[in-house]
Amino acid sequence: AMWRCPACRICEICAGEDNWEQMLVCDECDRGFHTYCLTPPLKAVPDGGWRCSECVQCLSCGAKAPGPKASDRWRRDFRMCAPCWGLYEAGNYCPICVKVFKDSDHSIEMVQCDSCDKWVHTLCGAVDSVTYNRMKTEDDFGWDCPRCRGEMDYDSDDEVVEKFPLPDARRVIDRQLALEEYCYAHVADLLGLIRVLEAPGRPRHPASGAAP
Ligand SMILES: [Zn+2]
Ligand SMILES: [Zn+2]
Ligand SMILES: [Zn+2]
Ligand SMILES: [Zn+2]
Ligand SMILES: [Zn+2]
Ligand SMILES: [Zn+2]
Repeated sequence: AMWRCPACRICEICAGEDNWEQMLVCDECDRGFHTYCLTPPLKAVPDGGWRCSECVQCLSCGAKAPGPKASDRWRRDFRMCAPCWGLYEAGNYCPICVKVFKDSDHSIEMVQCDSCDKWVHTLCGAVDSVTYNRMKTEDDFGWDCPRCRGEMDYDSDDEVVEKFPLPDARRVIDRQLALEEYCYAHVADLLGLIRVLEAPGRPRHPASGAAP
């Protein structure tokens, strides 16, 4: 896996650099892939984020596959598997770490936020055991999650995945031509200088014997 700058990005599968509009860029490793070179091929460029098969992984359960069924697809910018997405859609996720949970799972310590009504891991909400026990026993014990307290930098629900945009193809070619022209001009200058320096009869520096 090697990183390539946007200008020399190629499809890792067919090594082609054409059809940029069909080239996907992995949010994780920045490598390029044609939609039609993938197995299975993608019908269109996804609206949100995308991750290649090497980098894709469910942020909740760690799965490397989108799900047990052939029809299962990656969700949430290719960061959540289909089974976890089902729970996420039902609201069964901790708003801090975005990991999902089943209603039947009582082995994890979670507390409910009074503002957003979401269940939050005690660890994610920084709830110590004393507070946790009070919350379990005292009905009127109020608690707001870190997100509702405004302690999080961004809203992880609407996390914007910033992608490295590909420059316009015409602009890259123009730049390349300009650079070539610039180099040709320099080479011409250098050749001219060499011709002058190597010209017969040119006076040498008396001390070193070399041209100044
Ligand atoms: Zn480059
Ligand atoms: Zn390709
Ligand atoms: Zn990748
Ligand atoms: Zn998952
Ligand atoms: Zn959590
Ligand atoms: Zn909350």
